[in-house]
Amino acid sequence: MSESQAAQQAPDAAESTVVVSGIQPSGALHLGNYFGAIRQHIELHRKHEAYFFIVNYHALTSVQDAEVLREHTLNVALDYLALGFDPDEACLFVQSDVPEHTELAWILYNLTPVSRLEKGVSYKEKIAQGLAPNAGLLNYPVLQAADILIYGGTRVPVGADQKQHIEITRDLARRFNRVYAEGDDPVFPVPEAHILNDVAVVPGTDRDDQGRPRKMSKSYGNTIGIFDEGEALKDKVMGITTDSVPLADPMPTEGDNVFSLIKLFADDEKQNEIAEKYRHSDYGYGHAKKELLAMIEDEFAEARARRKELEQRPDYVRDVLREGAQQARRRAKRYMERVREAVGLNY
Ligand code: ADP
Repeated sequence: MSESQAAQQAPDAAESTVVVSGIQPSGALHLGNYFGAIRQHIELHRKHEAYFFIVNYHALTSVQDAEVLREHTLNVALDYLALGFDPDEACLFVQSDVPEHTELAWILYNLTPVSRLEKGVSYKEKIAQGLAPNAGLLNYPVLQAADILIYGGTRVPVGADQKQHIEITRDLARRFNRVYAEGDDPVFPVPEAHILNDVAVVPGTDRDDQGRPRKMSKSYGNTIGIFDEGEALKDKVMGITTDSVPLADPMPTEGDNVFSLIKLFADDEKQNEIAEKYRHSDYGYGHAKKELLAMIEDEFAEARARRKELEQRPDYVRDVLREGAQQARRRAKRYMERVREAVGLNY
């Protein structure tokens, strides 16, 4: 998006599609993130006015080491740029560079019942995974609502796991409009969740207690990073948990982590060809893993090369983020002015 386009986007241009999405810098991005979100983000950012930001305030719920947070933040920027995000098409920036996110969040806290947050599935899950149940974690969905509403976002591309949070955002938009906006001049459009469900859950490299594949997730330590390479990548792929089937017997494709991962990379013809090999006596999991390894290397070869180039140009990456934030902030400020007026913070 050009600078003049961004400047012309008045808050009441809410009729057009405004795509908003946050990415957590809480660790290396993995294949689950790629197939479940990033790939669609990259497609969407060219089609609509779009704001993509690295949510470093959200990451404070799990990362409390300054060096690590800085590193993860820049890594996400590098990953997105390497995977094809074009900063001339949409804004890419860091959440904390637009302070209006947290300013709006405070106002929204006062419209949010605590009981609603306590029932949050994601909140309960994160506590179960061992995160501290602090106020940041509890209020996470409210900051997320502010992230979206501060741009008048109308479309939020998220995984199905985030649907409940978008419901909270929708309720907060309606509530704010009801409490503060006069008549038929609502401040916030009510955004729609755009559920990115064209890919089933990407399985990790291990199995759960009952021997079933489980979701690839940083918290389970069962990820394959998008930019893993060399021996590290090989070790992860060759170490994927499988059934123990003698080489002479056919291997089931159903419920097999390796085959599920292969399906993400292979077209129908290739999938059928490999499924056929699974039934042959001279084809084992080692062979399948080698095919998967080659597919991962091939799929991301270009992005990996681009990322290495970008690593040599940290100033360019910082410039992209700074310019993205400047553009985004112009729009955020417009919304914030209307909010301050509606709430009575200007006197
Ligand atoms: P993690 O579980 O590793 O902490 P996040 O919760 O940060 O991952 O994931 C961000 C987004 O990436 C999710 O909302 C979802 O869209 C996508 N995603 C993450 N893991 C997977 C997975 N295993 N399969 C499909 N999509 C996933």
